[in-house]
Amino acid sequence: MAVIHELSPELTNQIAAGEVIERPASVVKELCENAIDAGSTRIRINFVEAGLAEISVQDNGSGIASDQIDLAFTRHATSKISTQRDLFNISTLGFRGEALASIAAVAHVDLLTNDGSAVGTKASFAGGQKMHQEDAAAPQGTKITVRDLFYNTPARLKYLKSERTEILKIVDIVDRLALGHPEIAFTLTNNNKPLLKTVGRDNLKLDVANIYGRHLAEKMIPVEGKSSDFKISGLISSIEDTRSNRNFISLLLNGRYVRNNQLTQSIMAGYGSKLRPRRYPIAVINIELDPLLVDVNVHPTKQEVRLSKDKELARLLTETISKALITNEHESSGLDNL
Ligand code: ADP
Ligand code: MG
Repeated sequence: MAVIHELSPELTNQIAAGEVIERPASVVKELCENAIDAGSTRIRINFVEAGLAEISVQDNGSGIASDQIDLAFTRHATSKISTQRDLFNISTLGFRGEALASIAAVAHVDLLTNDGSAVGTKASFAGGQKMHQEDAAAPQGTKITVRDLFYNTPARLKYLKSERTEILKIVDIVDRLALGHPEIAFTLTNNNKPLLKTVGRDNLKLDVANIYGRHLAEKMIPVEGKSSDFKISGLISSIEDTRSNRNFISLLLNGRYVRNNQLTQSIMAGYGSKLRPRRYPIAVINIELDPLLVDVNVHPTKQEVRLSKDKELARLLTETISKALITNEHESSGLDNL
């Protein structure tokens, strides 16, 4: 019989990385989420060759202290939770302490960071190991540059879709993060060629204008709803502006972009029978709720969540959407001008 032995940390990191880092867009998502958690007001993302040659994310957030860098790149090391109680009361986007370790296991990583000290720190990682660290001049915040993604996991490289598809996935995730955080100015460039820019003035309509176009943004309808457990706000399109797929529906739970079929259905239910078959609205819906009501520890990428009181929320969502549409119809038919 074969002998059982423990796998090396390098190998376990690589295996675990497969769950968190599926494609270039996953790197962008994880690095941006860290920047958001660090309290940044400006996030700049650049990528080269669909992110396979290079992805860099620069923020102006809290930065990482030089003596914390090793820990930041250690699996299951995080500054965001510490007790079991915290695990059910998560207010940050990250908490699993996996992203940086995972990225460093499947790419070359350079870090430049300053946590407000007189001098910053520069470090580099390869094959999951730290290669180098030294003092370096750096502005407040963190810049992480990821090169040669999946260089040591050829199977993963092969599984990737066309360059165009991978770029669309990067743009899609940055769109959603920006829509979830209108208070942050996002800049996304492809080899320094601008793809997306939001202004960070905490104005969702401005973000929608930058992402989906001004013409559409001007026609979007504000929604607002509230119960004792949930607060809903956002923008939805009128029945005239629909799309042939549901990709233009963004659901954010406490600023976290999630996919949830039930809630998507309840948004559509708010449009009632006026929504033609196989047509979908454009919507950005932010739901604020007590973190205790949502379990985000369901999947490594945290895009699937489990909700308590999901029926109550579904009902409130449908009601809120349908009310907003009715009010808008009255207004545009001029009834309140009488
Ligand atoms: P998690 O986000 O789940 O804590 P990560 O591996 O993504 O795990 O990051 C590990 C730790 O490194 C974080 O908890 C945080 O303390 C620190 N960190 C990562 N990125 C940044 C950043 N951009 N700015 C400040 N601190 C960061
Ligand atoms: Mg993280």
